[in-house]
Amino acid sequence: MIDYRSDTITKPTEKMRKAMYEAEVGDDVYGEDPTVKRLEELAAEITGKESAIFVPSGTMGNQLGVKTHTNPGDEIILEENCHIFYYEAGATAALSSVQTRTIRGEGGIMAISDIRKAIRSEDIHFPKTSLICVENTHNKWGGTVMSASHMKNIHELAMGRGIKVHLDGARIFNAAAYLNTDVKNITEHADSVMFCLSKGLCAPVGSMLAGSKDFIHKAKKYRKMFGGGMRQAGIIAAAGIVALTDMRERLQEDHENARNLAEGLSGIKGLEVDLNSVQTNIVMCDIVNKDSDSQKFIAALKEDGILATYITDTRVRFVTHYYIEAKDVKETISKISTYMKKQQ
Ligand SMILES: *Cc1c(COP(=O)(O)O)cnc(C)c1O
Repeated sequence: MIDYRSDTITKPTEKMRKAMYEAEVGDDVYGEDPTVKRLEELAAEITGKESAIFVPSGTMGNQLGVKTHTNPGDEIILEENCHIFYYEAGATAALSSVQTRTIRGEGGIMAISDIRKAIRSEDIHFPKTSLICVENTHNKWGGTVMSASHMKNIHELAMGRGIKVHLDGARIFNAAAYLNTDVKNITEHADSVMFCLSKGLCAPVGSMLAGSKDFIHKAKKYRKMFGGGMRQAGIIAAAGIVALTDMRERLQEDHENARNLAEGLSGIKGLEVDLNSVQTNIVMCDIVNKDSDSQKFIAALKEDGILATYITDTRVRFVTHYYIEAKDVKETISKISTYMKKQQ
């Protein structure tokens, strides 16, 4: 199977499995796991933050960010297709009792003027705007990247109004690879950042939340409250260290494969891909044949040994990752081309 469903399906590499086997561990709730500590120090250093904590999932990292930066009844500003709003089961309401103010942003990028308009003024009727959440790369918009300068503008606006910025950087290293910059040049424009070890970086489990020392100190208590205190977590943190050390620099390969796939698919009659939006490792493909629907397309591809994800009745998503090679992309284009010809 050539599995394009997501980069989350990546299994740990041989080197990760070996590191996991050999990991030195302790009870991390007691602060006694040396491998978790090493991973947290590494994550803080890479993102240019004072401190970081290891969390079981990206969702928990984001929700700890929201919880730690806000008080119940506050309002938070976010893009209407962002993961925190769209895909986290209503956690901002359930866990932090904040209300959400969503803005549509082309490519997932909220305009400064729209954010400025959404920030509440001081008024007895109004909730307090305490947080702006941004997502880079943007998942639902197809892995699109926000520039460091736009992030800087958002952060400056926020700082001027006493508002914090949380970066959902599940795929922040893909953004850094696209922008060809050190990830610190992106993360410096947010008060906190969450990133995933378990996506394109191939670790089996886990995400990191980074920020100031004081912020992480508070978040650690909420992590316990949310049930995310882990014991001998060094077993999985060991894979995270390999992920950060070995897997960041190769993401450009995934981007090249995605680009080649997108170009190949866009050349097939009955399919359309917006090539401008293919910036990292995600390809959104629209089926424009009058009698073709995406579920039928996905089922046919599966018969041919290719897995993709349903997005809408006419849209299918392909995600490239460590286990997709250039030859797989060639094979995919050829098989889809044959299938689409039969549909004419
Ligand atoms: C995957 C993802 C998350 C959440 O990660 P989980 O580990 O699946 O909870 C958060 N934000 C974005 C943008 C993601 O793509």
